[in-house]
Amino acid sequence: MDFEFSKHQKMIQKEVRRFAQEELAPRYQQWDREKRYPRELVKKMGDLGFIGVSVSQENGGLGESFITEGIVCEEISRGDCSISMSTHVANHLCGGLLEQGHKEAKDAFLGPFLAGEKIPAFCLTEPGCGTDAAALQTRAEKKGAAYVLNGEKSGITAIMDADFALVFAKTDPEAGAQGVSCFVIPMDLPGVSTQSYEDLGCNAVVRGSLFLQDVEIPETYLIGQEGKGFKLAMQGFDQSRILLCLEALRPPLYPLKRPWNMSNSARPSADHWRLSKAFLSRSSNTSASWRPFGCCATRHCG
Ligand SMILES: Cc1cc2nc3c(=O)[nH]c(=O)nc-3n(C[C@H](O)[C@H](O)[C@H](O)COP(=O)(O)OP(=O)(O)OC[C@H]3O[C@@H](n4cnc5c(N)ncnc54)[C@H](O)[C@@H]3O)c2cc1C
Repeated sequence: MDFEFSKHQKMIQKEVRRFAQEELAPRYQQWDREKRYPRELVKKMGDLGFIGVSVSQENGGLGESFITEGIVCEEISRGDCSISMSTHVANHLCGGLLEQGHKEAKDAFLGPFLAGEKIPAFCLTEPGCGTDAAALQTRAEKKGAAYVLNGEKSGITAIMDADFALVFAKTDPEAGAQGVSCFVIPMDLPGVSTQSYEDLGCNAVVRGSLFLQDVEIPETYLIGQEGKGFKLAMQGFDQSRILLCLEALRPPLYPLKRPWNMSNSARPSADHWRLSKAFLSRSSNTSASWRPFGCCATRHCG
């Protein structure tokens, strides 16, 4: 099996790497200290087509493969892993969900998301359920042509900067996982509030909780069909888990590259850093090792 990237993918990789090194890397420490989400850079990424890479062309995306999305995610994390956490790992889930939305929801949210103008948040986890996501308690009740939502979501990436949230809620509390539906909720609606966390690391993207109190949305903000939300979330995780690994891969390789370069200079790095050259050599090749995962994911997703 050939795991080489295509010419087109190598070109994208080069372009994203240049962007990450020139635009993100020089300022990531400052953003982290200031806990500031650089929206202007996210907008620039949208202009360059680096957001929602695998969203289909008919929905305004580039329609690239999932492997290409993985390349973009890994290269962005070379410059700032907080940004790739939001713009690729969490936002990949949001982009895939929005594609399932009504035209009204797509017009209002998908276009601005792809352009880097609106920031989404993916809201599944709750204080009482993480791994066992089907046990969520947030409720969505149908009232005429609207849904009214009540509940709390926790540990949500970029919730403090989000313009809208993809929220999973029970439309049928007796039906377990089959009673979970997904909705898009603008963050400026009455009844929506947030609370930030004090995390360690990746501080440019602040995590937090989302509180919904009698939040009313039009029925067209339901994503997909009622009761199919859990399946949509799990399908998204099949891919976002791999993006999460890619996001985590690049930052630790960066400091290792320094001793590798020094190992070719007068003083061997093995002496200086107490690292074996074999270890450095292996680690410098690590980025090639994810490709089989990407291929598996693409096959899995048809
Ligand atoms: C950096 C970060 C960003 C995040 N961003 C988001 C986000 O954007 N949106 C979102 O919705 N969530 C987000 N989360 C939340 C994340 O999805 C949850 O933390 C995750 O689902 C685990 O849930 P939990 O923390 O409640 O742990 P738990 O579910 O309580 O699990 C704790 C431990 O117990 C184990 N465990 C659980 N159940 C069982 C069982 N039945 N048998 C054996 N072992 C078990 C688990 O494997 C785990 O090791 C984020 C979390 C982090 C750390």
